[in-house]
Order: sequence, then structure tokens, then C-alpha cells
Amino acid sequence: MAEQKRDYYEVLGVDKNADDAALKKAYRVLAKKYHPDMNPGDAEAEKKFKEASEAYAVLSDPDKRRQYDQFGHAAFDQGAGGGGFGGFDFSGADFGDIFGDIFGDFFGGGRSRGRTNNGPMKGSNIRTSVRVTFEEAVFGCEKEIELNTKDECKTCHGTGAKPGTSPETCSKCGGKGQVVFTQQSFFGTVRNVQACPDCQGTGKVIREKCPDCHGSGYIPMRKRFAVDIPAGIDNGQCKRLTGQGEPGVNGGPRGDVLVEVIVGRHPIFQRQEYNIYSTVPVSFAVAALGGDVIIDTVDGKVIYEVKPGTQTDTRVRLKGKGVPSLRNREVRGDHYVTLVVQVPDKLSHDAKELLRKFDEETGDSLNAAKRLSGEDPDKPGGHKKKKGLFNK
Ligand SMILES: [Zn+2]
Ligand SMILES: [Zn+2]
Repeated sequence: MAEQKRDYYEVLGVDKNADDAALKKAYRVLAKKYHPDMNPGDAEAEKKFKEASEAYAVLSDPDKRRQYDQFGHAAFDQGAGGGGFGGFDFSGADFGDIFGDIFGDFFGGGRSRGRTNNGPMKGSNIRTSVRVTFEEAVFGCEKEIELNTKDECKTCHGTGAKPGTSPETCSKCGGKGQVVFTQQSFFGTVRNVQACPDCQGTGKVIREKCPDCHGSGYIPMRKRFAVDIPAGIDNGQCKRLTGQGEPGVNGGPRGDVLVEVIVGRHPIFQRQEYNIYSTVPVSFAVAALGGDVIIDTVDGKVIYEVKPGTQTDTRVRLKGKGVPSLRNREVRGDHYVTLVVQVPDKLSHDAKELLRKFDEETGDSLNAAKRLSGEDPDKPGGHKKKKGLFNK
């Protein structure tokens, strides 16, 4: 300890006003980088690790941090008492939590197994999905789902112990559900807290198991639920059935069932947010002269009056024919219809004649031919030329 100690804030690379989260984050990065398990035999890494751990132990403790802010390293030079690193006691710091996060895999098991679970905990959520049609999503529907879940065992009332017996307090952890073990002794007492291996963190051991649930306290089962799918729901959205998931632990509430809604495609309609889009063919004659077309909507067929001279790809809006809002059914999006003018490709003899007459009347091809030959298109008597053009 002859070396000049670096400033704790500097060690962690945080500023003096850093909050707990910032400290923890900074330390987590350093601990991961310099942890001896990650750097076997690297004395420099070990030194850095100790330095960071010490800095974190002080700054994460409000009392020690206050003393340090006031007196610097001198605050801990005398009388800090036994154990620890350089007369420093690390036991107050929350290393287990951090090491649990970083090294969960090292020490057998991920986060959930590393945690103790002898307090009330909410049960697991169950995820599932349900398919609905386009229209069912628009107007809402009720669907039945079936899923695997579990319930408290009625024989043992969830204790897992054979009726007439009861779970005993775990002797290894004294019922606390967690055991503390000390990290390698290179710098005193860094404590790592883990779920007790004997009782899996429950704090209780079952000597005689319940014959029905084999000690788990739960009975697996298949359950049916009626799911009310609200009008306006969109593909990928979830309906939550609160409190229908797996049972909680130690008196905790049940988890939820999350039902993802998968909306089928529609042959005509597309949806974007609360609006619906479709295309409708309009005959050449109706587009030119005006007239009625029938448009399919989610509310059924509606008759739309096409204005004379409507061009292809004209978009019309059918107000309020879209999808109801999830928040308020009364509020609906719109239905946008693209009118696509159709060019007829199969014509009867008579229809062709009529179109020729139409062409004569409007004179487009005639005039084009005349313009090419330099004639004045407005002068009468160009009929011979026109015939020739058509017969080519
Ligand atoms: Zn049981
Ligand atoms: Zn135990």
C-alpha cells in the first residue's frame, strides 16, 4: 500500500455526481474486463480489478462515499477495522449482484437460478398466439385458446410435501435461500451471494414428497380460455390475460397469458394503421361518362358514383369505412379506393365498330395522321386517310 492511491472517481471513470446506476455500470465494465477469472495469471489485471472493486465498495455506500468526499483516502486510513483490503471492509457492497449478472454462467446458471426465490414472486407469463381473419381483427371477436399451464397441487396445497408432513427449513442456508461464498482471497472478503444449492433458493427442503406433484407443488394441466379480441387489433399486437399465467411462488400473484394476434391476409383489402386500401376496376365507358361502381368494404358493398372524366388511379376516400380505433370503437379510419380504368381487350364486332365510330367522332388518330401529312386537322374531308390508318 505504499503506492499513491488513485482517486476513486477517476478509477471508475465517472464524475463526482455520478448516481448509483452510473457507478454500477462503470464498475460492471471494469470488473468484467479485469476479473482474474478472465485474466488468469495477469497481475496487472488483478491490481486493476482490486482497485476498481475498492472504489466501487466505497462509492456505492452512501456513508462511505460521504466520508470519502470529505476526507479522501484519509477517511479510511485509521480504525476501519478488520478484514478486507488494506484495512478495508467490503462486506457492505453489493458485489454478489454484479458478479451474478456478469458471471452467472461461470457459477452455474443464469440470472433466474442465481437469484434467491424465497420471497413472493409473480408466476411466469405464458406466451401463445391466435389467428384471426382480417374482418375479425377489424370488428373484434371471441376466440378460444388452449394452452399448457400448471396449478397449485390440491393434495399438498402447493407445499410439495406429503400430506401430514411439511417442508423443513433448509439447514444449509438456515432458510434464507441463499448462501454466501467468498471470492478468491486476493483481496479479502468479496462476498458472492448465490441461491442455496440444497433448497434451490426456497429456504425449505422437502423430506417426504407429495405423491401427486412429486414435490413440485404444481400439477401440469391444459386449460382453455375464451379470449376477447378487441375491434381494431392489428397483426402482432398482444392481448394480455392478467393473472391467468403460471401460479406465483410463495404467495406471489399468478403471471399473465400473452396472446399474440396474427391477422390473416385479405384478398382485396390491405390495412395500414386504421385505414383500409383497395383497388376497384372501372370500365372505360363509366370512367368517361360517369356512372356507378360497386365497392366492397368491410361493412359490405357500397355504390359509388364515378364522376365523368375520371382518370385511372384516381383515389377516393370512403370516410369512416376503415378500422375502428382500439381505444374507441366509434372512431374509425377511412377506406381509400384506387379506381383503375380498364382498357377492354376482348371486343365483339359491334363493339369494335362503335369504338371506330367513337374514334372518328373524337378524331384522335385521324388528327394525328393529318398532322403527320401536314393537313389541317380541322378541315373536313379527311375520312379516306383515316380508313387507311385503321386498316394497316
Ligand atoms: Zn402436491
Ligand atoms: Zn437452503
